[in-house]
Amino acid sequence: MANQPFELIGLLNVHGNILEVNQVALDAIGLEKTNILGRLFWEAPWWTHSPDLQKQIQESIAQVSLGQGIQQDVTYASPSGISSSFTLSMKPIHSEIGQVIYLVVEGYSNRTYGPRINDPKLNQAIEPELQSRTRHLEEQLAHKQLLASITQNIRQSLDFDEILTTTVTEVRQVLQADRALIFHLTSEGSGIVIKESVVPEYPVTLEMMFPDECFPEECYEHYCQGNPRIVLDVFKDEWADCLAEFMEQVGVKTKIVAPIVQMGDNRLPRVWGLLIVHSCDYYRQWQPSDAELLQDISNQLAIALTQADLYSQLQTSEMHLRNAFDNGVNGMAMLTMSGQFMRVNPALCQLLGYSKSELLQIEIQDLIQPQELDRHRNHIQDLIADRTSTLQIESELRHKSGKTLWTISSASLVHDTQGEPLYFVVQVLDISERRALEQMKNEFISSVSHELRTPLASIHGSLGLLASGVLDEQPETSKQMLEIAATESERLVRLVNDILDLERLESHKIMLHQQWCSALSLMQRVVELLSIKADNKDIRLFVTPTVHQVWVDEDRIIQVLVNLVSNAIKFSSPGSTIWMSVLTQNSESSLPSQGNQQDIPQLSLEKGISATSQVIFQVKDQGKGIAADKLEIIFDRFQQVNGSDSREYGGTGLGLAICRNIVHQHGGTIWAKSELGLGSTFYFTLPVPESS
Ligand code: ADP
Repeated sequence: MANQPFELIGLLNVHGNILEVNQVALDAIGLEKTNILGRLFWEAPWWTHSPDLQKQIQESIAQVSLGQGIQQDVTYASPSGISSSFTLSMKPIHSEIGQVIYLVVEGYSNRTYGPRINDPKLNQAIEPELQSRTRHLEEQLAHKQLLASITQNIRQSLDFDEILTTTVTEVRQVLQADRALIFHLTSEGSGIVIKESVVPEYPVTLEMMFPDECFPEECYEHYCQGNPRIVLDVFKDEWADCLAEFMEQVGVKTKIVAPIVQMGDNRLPRVWGLLIVHSCDYYRQWQPSDAELLQDISNQLAIALTQADLYSQLQTSEMHLRNAFDNGVNGMAMLTMSGQFMRVNPALCQLLGYSKSELLQIEIQDLIQPQELDRHRNHIQDLIADRTSTLQIESELRHKSGKTLWTISSASLVHDTQGEPLYFVVQVLDISERRALEQMKNEFISSVSHELRTPLASIHGSLGLLASGVLDEQPETSKQMLEIAATESERLVRLVNDILDLERLESHKIMLHQQWCSALSLMQRVVELLSIKADNKDIRLFVTPTVHQVWVDEDRIIQVLVNLVSNAIKFSSPGSTIWMSVLTQNSESSLPSQGNQQDIPQLSLEKGISATSQVIFQVKDQGKGIAADKLEIIFDRFQQVNGSDSREYGGTGLGLAICRNIVHQHGGTIWAKSELGLGSTFYFTLPVPESS
């Protein structure tokens, strides 16, 4: 190898990094090109035998970088140790604005070529060859540099529009074209110019649409394979005759077309669009290197567009997730592995009564009852150890106000790509209401069972005695037993009816059929229904006349009045009087004191009707009265003032609960006033709607 003539042609950047070098020089040191590109020229193996020489070359490069050409005699040592001297010349290459951008180095072995270098004939022969090689290297390098800089600019953004704008602007400048444009092919087979950079002298083609894109199949195939096309006369372009008219209109003479190829959903390449440069001024002879550069840019653009597309998909899905999180009706949170809140949604803040910033400062453990912590820890350990994929815990959490909430929390664990646990995602559902309802239902069932058992036991006892035959000889007692059984059966029927009625009212299965009724006729109807019962106890029923009309479900309000008057009869002594009357009151003035006024529900009025005042029904008796501490609870289910009331008076303890429900459904409220031994007065209000 040492005997071979040594010649070196290379291109360096201004810092001395090797950008290109010829093969002969590489063969001389037995290196692959890839192992030397990018390395500092003075550190390359040609000179490592002499640190002094390395230093000398480094200094020369620094000088040439400032714009000065240098020629020096140096010694090169081959790996086999044979050294030869040769002349190394370095010259700067300037940019358009006069800046040094590259350094060209050339070295010729003196021993081999030395004697001939002074031979003008030989020099003349070598010079063109050298110039052409140097030019080629320079071109290649310029191409690479341009591509790198354009790629960097294109890839700087993930915004679709910005990428396209940068591309057409840079391409037009770099190729000094009159127009650069991006033509997008839609899936429906039409095409549209979506981005353009054009010199002011020529027409704008932006947004021009080609409804039926007319590539011949072989042309599409050519593009699909990522091949560019130079068209040196657009009027003789056999693959695009249909565009001739358009080309004339927009003043094009020659062009290069580089396809933008992407992978389709079917994993096959598809032409997403075309990156095109136009020469309008003259019939420009585009070079293959121009087409190559344009195609390289187009390929980079395809990657950038795919990335932008993926990024926008990611952003959309991120936005959907964020929306689902922020607007979720259930409480949601992300928790660190130690239980610290990392992210919380507004629903969770509302549920727990804390602000977002307050929650982010605490741990979930702070909200769990201390005696429950171990149970939670065990469940979480199961989740971490992958013994379960999601975890559901029903537990009480502490609200900021101090009260406790029954909740169901579902948690899952998010892992990183290596499978390491990262954080928990937790959903919290408030089930306090459901728990309260369940509790009420359980209490109700136990009360109902209890209430049913009493009459059933009496019926069972009486019938049992009769069946045993011990009363066969005692017809009077037998008759009494039958009467007991009959009375208790009636009570059972009443009880079951009341329970069903209340259940239907509470679950809103009963629709009110409201209409205008005369308050007086409602009260008179009640008197008709109960006069026998009252007469039997020698009790007088009085109705104070009134002209008021009320907007009610007639049957239901009669049911309320019957219940109140029946109670009054039941709990009054013979000879006493019961009064029924109606007072009106504007809703803004105060009502007769409402010791136990319940929450008044929303008025159930028809559209177009607003409540401005209300009427108050009043049922007043002179009976035994009700203790002050019982005035409220008598409206609850199965509540009686005395345990003996049901036995003594045959009631079910559900009547007032039913009354309260009906009155509430009418948008009114009900309460009682009483003085022990003197009598009780029950009031209920009904809103009076006024046509608006
Ligand atoms: P019941 O069917 O037992 O009458 P209610 O719900 O109608 O059930 O009444 C509940 C309890 O309220 C009664 O058992 C009674 O103790 C008391 N009560 C209701 N109305 C009166 C009244 N006018 N005078 C005295 N006590 C009453």
